[in-house]
Amino acid sequence: MPINVTQTYLPPFEEYIAILKRAWDNKWITNNGELLQELEQKLKELHHTDHLLFCSNGTIVLQLALKALQITKEVITTPFSYVATANAVLWEGCTPVFVDIEPTTFCIDAGKIEAAITKDTQAILATHVYGFPCNVEKIEAIARQHNLKVIYDAAHAFGCTYKGRSLLNFGDISTCSFHATKVFHTVEGGCIVSNSKEMNDKLFLYRSFGHIGDDYHSIGINAKNSEFHAAMGLAILPKLPSIIKARKEIFNIYNTILPSSLQRPSNAIEAFEYNYAYYPVLFETEKALLKTRAELMQHDINTRRYFYPSLNNLSQVTGIKAYCPVSEDLSSRVLCLPLYPGLTEKELEKINEVITKSLA
Ligand SMILES: *Cc1c(COP(=O)(O)O)cnc(C)c1O
Repeated sequence: MPINVTQTYLPPFEEYIAILKRAWDNKWITNNGELLQELEQKLKELHHTDHLLFCSNGTIVLQLALKALQITKEVITTPFSYVATANAVLWEGCTPVFVDIEPTTFCIDAGKIEAAITKDTQAILATHVYGFPCNVEKIEAIARQHNLKVIYDAAHAFGCTYKGRSLLNFGDISTCSFHATKVFHTVEGGCIVSNSKEMNDKLFLYRSFGHIGDDYHSIGINAKNSEFHAAMGLAILPKLPSIIKARKEIFNIYNTILPSSLQRPSNAIEAFEYNYAYYPVLFETEKALLKTRAELMQHDINTRRYFYPSLNNLSQVTGIKAYCPVSEDLSSRVLCLPLYPGLTEKELEKINEVITKSLA
């Protein structure tokens, strides 16, 4: 059996089916059903907010955020994220303005944001990379001073808290992905968290075509999710503490056994609780990364260049070419190692052995 970079967490089948049976009995499988409402309620409690909507994926929620905040021009964003972040900006007809990242945290360099602001700048869209928080205080101060909206792509941050507050609950809007590869998942899914009832009501309409029954209020799209997906969320949510605990144990074993020449992103912030979403390591050169990656693959060990390439270099990004040397450098040298509950100590030893040999 190959060791993959991640393995989707599946709850006991019977537990999933027992929850799904309720949808069968109700004969109600989508359109704001009972299971979806129950999951949404639990997610609201977990994140201490009344303004959260469960949606169909972690990309459409970025699009909803830009649309609902009426962003049409320039968006300051990070070149170091999954391609969905930049695509959402482009898809909504906005212009991404890439600001380079910090060499330690891999998050957008808040100190470089102000220099990129023009008369057309309307928003900052930043990613909490690997679940580590952006400099939320500084970004908020800049946004306030320049009258900009703040959107966080918190796709990696489910289960992370900063100063006791969920990382999904910062900015004007935060979004999350519940894709099968994420720490918490609903097969496909995501959520959008805003900071007012007014915005939540607007997003509620946007999520399902802009109407409730026979009352047509606004534009809208189909960003709904189904009872099947909600049932998966309800089955997995109670397991979250044990999932994070298992991830933490693997994370700590890697920390102990891997060669010390391999650097990692570091985030020394205090009052932060991590979800152990990823284990990225930084090679000295791209050549060393490619060599080690190929050798791991020969042993059926799959890793992921995450994130690569730097988004400012994507072919669909036209216009002024942004210069993001830190992101371009780090994205060429970073590799995410396998990390999921169930990875055995023996497998971790094997991964370490191949890497150590390759670097020698
Ligand atoms: C996974 C991910 C997304 C996209 O989420 P989907 O649910 O797959 O659409 C967006 N941004 C980041 C940073 C991600 O990791």
